[in-house]
Amino acid sequence: MIAPYAARPENSLRRIFIEPAEPTNSGRNPFQRDRDRIVHCSAFRRLEYKTQVFLNHEGDHFRTRLTHSLEVAQIGRAVARRIHLNEDLVEAISLAHDLGHTPFGHAGQDALNACMKDHGGFEHNLQSLWVVDHLEERYPTFSGLNLCFETREGILKHISNNNRKIHAAWLGALGERFTLGHSPSLEAQLANIADEIAYSNHDIDDGIRSGLIPMGSLEEVQLWRDQLTKVKILYPSLSGSKLRHEVIRHIIHILVNDLVTTSQKLILEYEPQTIDDVRSSKPLISFSSSVQVQVQELKIFLFKNLYRHPQVLGVTEEAANQIKFLFEHYVNYPQYLPADFRVDDLEQPMRRISHYIAGMTDRFARKEFARFST
Ligand code: MG
Repeated sequence: MIAPYAARPENSLRRIFIEPAEPTNSGRNPFQRDRDRIVHCSAFRRLEYKTQVFLNHEGDHFRTRLTHSLEVAQIGRAVARRIHLNEDLVEAISLAHDLGHTPFGHAGQDALNACMKDHGGFEHNLQSLWVVDHLEERYPTFSGLNLCFETREGILKHISNNNRKIHAAWLGALGERFTLGHSPSLEAQLANIADEIAYSNHDIDDGIRSGLIPMGSLEEVQLWRDQLTKVKILYPSLSGSKLRHEVIRHIIHILVNDLVTTSQKLILEYEPQTIDDVRSSKPLISFSSSVQVQVQELKIFLFKNLYRHPQVLGVTEEAANQIKFLFEHYVNYPQYLPADFRVDDLEQPMRRISHYIAGMTDRFARKEFARFST
């Protein structure tokens, strides 16, 4: 059922370390095996206690990195089925895409990046790759999860020029794609847009639920306004959380349908025959330009009214200071790092400290901050 231009497990560009083939009776292909490795790794479990937008302890109903990743996988798989891409690969990439996120969301990441300014910086996409390539310790003969090239390619969405040079040796062909201007697989392109669809919609939901976004204010956003009008015609007396959920459901439908139709059109136009054609072509998984403009408008609205909301900024700034404090603390007192992160190997000490902090959950980082700051 999958298209010739989809990623095929039998043609995978392979894992970093050669492993014995999966027993034929296992019923798993290599991408499914990657998905299973990701679900079983400890970085995946820690996503449960990492902030998406709202700090983990602020409420039990807000998204965490874990539930966000599950929503990305759901949307990604649904679209993959409709355009005959490899659903398993989309799922594996989606579930792993945020493994490298720091505690405390973007504030935590910016803080860690500032701490690492003179030591190669910190990027969450690259960090997700560090996690699956090096930091997980689960297998007897290698570090990391030894995932397929295609899964790793999808995880490394973007990387700065500087980091590409610094990490060229272990990035290999993954890094070359950016220099050559090549596209990743359609599955990787899809997981990236599924991420965008998921967070734009669940952040509306969490934003309204938290009281930070008054539902009425969303009417300045065309996507919301149009779907609200439709829902009001279908269910004139609907209000409260049912109304909110129905409008959001409509928006997700509109975005998914547009993504499917536009991508199908682009694929017909560029006629990729194989995944190599996909890699040398422009990105083919895309919204139409009119929907792209509307998605952009929604994202700007969320940026101004939610991510930059004084209440969100206040809490996350405090959290960012905790990250800075912890970083300096471990620089000055490396004996407090766990043994694994004190090993004097090829990685410079600052990178090891940033690995340790990036891996923390919100609640563990708060606990460590409380322990060392009093
Ligand atoms: Mg994400």
